[in-house]
Amino acid sequence: MSAEVINLSQLQNDHGDFVERVRKMSGQDVRKCYQCGKCSAGCPVHNCEGMDVSPNRIMRMVQMGMEEDVLRTKTIWICVLCSTCTARCPRDIDIARVMDALRIMSFERKITEPAKTANIFHEMFMNNIKKYGRMYEFGFAVGYTMKTGYMLNLLDVGPATLLKGNLAFFPPHMKNSSQIREIAENVEKIERMEGEH
Ligand code: SF4
Ligand code: SF4
Repeated sequence: MSAEVINLSQLQNDHGDFVERVRKMSGQDVRKCYQCGKCSAGCPVHNCEGMDVSPNRIMRMVQMGMEEDVLRTKTIWICVLCSTCTARCPRDIDIARVMDALRIMSFERKITEPAKTANIFHEMFMNNIKKYGRMYEFGFAVGYTMKTGYMLNLLDVGPATLLKGNLAFFPPHMKNSSQIREIAENVEKIERMEGEH
């Protein structure tokens, strides 16, 4: 049986619309990804039960225009936006931003089961930033898993990520956290005003 030959350039041309929408929302061009796999190798939640598709495969699915499939993955929701992948990518792709963009797309289209918990996710995310000035991933992960019932995921990945040093146990201390809080509150104010129109 002969292996199927995939013409990636052709596929990317055929599905350029989705790639372009992801680029607009994330500011990242996933066409640059050449599948080295470094992102997945460093990802603290890769291989845990909740991550059904590895980060490098998410990039490939976007390249191939697999919009419906990629927006239904658990991966885009379980990603903790730690940016380890981003720091490792030799093609300078901010993968965490791509994940976030895919989450927003999925949420907007209400096509995933985890999207039901997206409101909780976004609310807790903003509260976390307002409180600490930057993301306190461990506190966020604990709070989010408790609120959404994803405790098993936390038990699965938590100890390993802490041991690897990829998640800080204690909250970050930022000098200008009050300014960050002010920015976040202003953004919320603008969103509320836009919602009223
Ligand atoms: S590290 Fe970058 S280039 Fe390598 S697979 Fe991941 S996204 Fe693609
Ligand atoms: S940002 Fe998401 S995909 Fe990237 S290393 Fe962190 S958890 Fe994994």
